[in-house]
Amino acid sequence: MTVVLVLILLGPPGAGKGTQAARLCAARSLAHISTGDLFRENLKQDTALGKRAKGFMDAGQLVPDELVLEMLFDRVAKPDCRQGYLLDGFPRTIPQAEALEKRLGGHAKVVVLSLRVPEPVLLERLTARRTCKACNHVHHLRFAPPKVAGKCDKCGGELVQRTDDTLEVVSKRLEVYRNQTQPLEGFYAGRKLLAEVDGNRPEEEVFRDLSRRSIGGEAA
Ligand code: AMP
Repeated sequence: MTVVLVLILLGPPGAGKGTQAARLCAARSLAHISTGDLFRENLKQDTALGKRAKGFMDAGQLVPDELVLEMLFDRVAKPDCRQGYLLDGFPRTIPQAEALEKRLGGHAKVVVLSLRVPEPVLLERLTARRTCKACNHVHHLRFAPPKVAGKCDKCGGELVQRTDDTLEVVSKRLEVYRNQTQPLEGFYAGRKLLAEVDGNRPEEEVFRDLSRRSIGGEAA
């Protein structure tokens, strides 16, 4: 049985997980699995799963573990994950991490990278974030404004504010992160799998640091 690389990108909403995940996956030929994107895709397609997840997402709460796990395990069973994959936004609770650990058994090399960004910076980033409806590329009204207002630089698609990027929902998401997801740092540190990376730096610098540490063996 081959050992697959499973990179886990931890960090609060707005830490830059999505942007960095896309770059890391392109550089290392990994499948990019974002549970948030999978849920949003289900919402768009109006599936039964999307309907069940919607209320939780709109309120900034976590979708119940059993729904997330079923969706995630279906996804990572697909052929594009055979060479390894990056998890962006999963796990978000200790039971999710335990379920993943059980499923992977000894057949994976797990590297967990935790992006750290101070909360005031996260608030600023999230509330000014505009996401492309078509390709999910993210712009920031101040730091990475689109060349044409309201249009994605990458594909020309319509830029919108995610319904959960409003100040009220963002505050809830940050609270949920502190209470339910941050304990994962201790979970993975205890297994000597965690490396912490300062995410409050220019994108390129953060990327270089993450790339270096994603090779593994540098977990601190
Ligand atoms: P994200 O795009 O990663 O910020 O996720 C958007 C929303 O999807 C979250 O606020 C949750 O409601 C839901 N979600 C995404 N991933 C998970 C997960 N691993 N566990 C529970 N809920 C999730």
